[in-house]
Amino acid sequence: MRRLLARGSHLLIATHNAGKLAEIAELLAPWAITCVSAGQLGLPEPEETAESFAGNAALKARAAAVAAKLPALADDSGFSVAALRGAPGVHSARWAGEPRDFVAAMARVHREMDGSPDRRAWFTCVLCLAWPDGHEEHFEGRVDGTVVWPPRGTHGFGYDPMFVPNGDTRTYGEMPPAEKQLGSHRTLAFARLRGALLR
Ligand code: IMP
Repeated sequence: MRRLLARGSHLLIATHNAGKLAEIAELLAPWAITCVSAGQLGLPEPEETAESFAGNAALKARAAAVAAKLPALADDSGFSVAALRGAPGVHSARWAGEPRDFVAAMARVHREMDGSPDRRAWFTCVLCLAWPDGHEEHFEGRVDGTVVWPPRGTHGFGYDPMFVPNGDTRTYGEMPPAEKQLGSHRTLAFARLRGALLR
């Protein structure tokens, strides 16, 4: 049975990233949902040990819901390349090392593709909303496109400069951020969540 998120309810956003919290709070504002973050409550950040986006989103949402006794929303996202059998995938952030270096991560994608003629790639975002009693809902957004080399553009973040979404000729790095956001994997996942859970 699908469970709705009632107008005016409190929702825990299972992230320690202030930028993500602000973006999500803004998306949910029309439904008068009050958002607090795992970071604000000082909840620990679980390790992302699952091998799927859904698995990692669930792991973060469940831990936060149980700790705060509130419904909790978590997301997991990443960049997948067909010629690399879906890598870097759930390891997208880790490929950039510490401190994060996405120029190096993009160079690794290019190197490992080894001139493959299969240029297909996609961004995925999975949202998991978990309630303290164990109920869960998952929503996925995906944008398909191709890998280009060398990277182009200075907008966005992560792997944006090496990805051209289908139907366009520009990389995400060359698009104004508002235009990328219109059809991004995150926006699509949120649209599904809103359609299913909010009235
Ligand atoms: P997480 O969802 O915060 O764990 O981040 C996953 C990683 O996926 C990010 O660090 C980026 O490397 C990559 N990623 C996710 N979404 C995007 C995007 O829209 N553009 C570029 N890279 C992204």
